[in-house]
Amino acid sequence: MTQLQFRRNRRLRTSKTMRSMVRETILHKEDFIYPMFVIEGENVKNEVSSMPGIHQFSLDRLMEEVDEVVSLGIPSVILFGIPSEKDATGTGAFDEEGIVQRATRLIKEKHPDLVVIADTCLCEFTDHGHCGVVHGDEVLNDPSLELLAKTAVSQAKAGADIIAPSNMMDGFVIAIRQALDEAGFENVPIMSYAVKYASAYYGPFRDAADSAPQFGDRKTYQMDPANRMEALREAESDVMEGADFLIVKPALSYLDIMRDVKNNVLLPVVAYNVSGEYSMVKAAAANGWINEKEIVLETLTSMKRAGADLILTYHAKDAARWLEGK
Ligand SMILES: [Zn+2]
Repeated sequence: MTQLQFRRNRRLRTSKTMRSMVRETILHKEDFIYPMFVIEGENVKNEVSSMPGIHQFSLDRLMEEVDEVVSLGIPSVILFGIPSEKDATGTGAFDEEGIVQRATRLIKEKHPDLVVIADTCLCEFTDHGHCGVVHGDEVLNDPSLELLAKTAVSQAKAGADIIAPSNMMDGFVIAIRQALDEAGFENVPIMSYAVKYASAYYGPFRDAADSAPQFGDRKTYQMDPANRMEALREAESDVMEGADFLIVKPALSYLDIMRDVKNNVLLPVVAYNVSGEYSMVKAAAANGWINEKEIVLETLTSMKRAGADLILTYHAKDAARWLEGK
């Protein structure tokens, strides 16, 4: 007869101190990247209706928010721009006087140590809302690369510390790497949106950035949520093309993918805790259905546990405060 035994796993949970000694994943404010929306105009601080606590700022008010981010010890922000005019090829994206370029210069002047990441895409700047050049109802790959490369160089010239291309065209990392190198920015890293799914969780962002596609959807360039091997192919392509960081987006419904990517590449992995994930928590919290602080810290910890080295999150300011016990 076999003698059945059980192990007393609870021994390591007997006190708060004991639990803290064996904790495997610890969240730090240095893990966070805070997304910000900059808009043309004066004296603008618009709350995004589907994202309570998140605002679009005009340049003259942007520093209110940036100063707060810096004072909380968050090391980095990523900028999304909302131009006053849009056109077919998104020229506002690579204009030296474009909204993102001006915001970058302003921030770096006052806070040279804050790492400014420029989101590199065309969808906020095109009148059709797609991430590339459109012919009929097709989004063209190679002609889009040229414009993306121009955008990246103009952002690096403005002082962006990291270029974050998000449009999911094939070859976008190598096109941007070559253009940055030729322009003398060989030390500016690329944080690629390597694994980006065509997700319904992006809805509130499109309100915030005014970037909803005017026809069709993004399923010919963003990935099918059902696919796992494809994520590894996308990650591998971007590694070969010279990316320095890989983003997995969205985060919460894709924690398995994050772990796969982490186990298969040797680059820092970045989780994008997207707008829809944020809005669901805010809505439930506003109704008193959940404990917002505990839910947010548990969610962000799960992303780090799944393999994220950094987390892009709209909760960054609150989470940084909570981690400091404030
Ligand atoms: Zn885009």
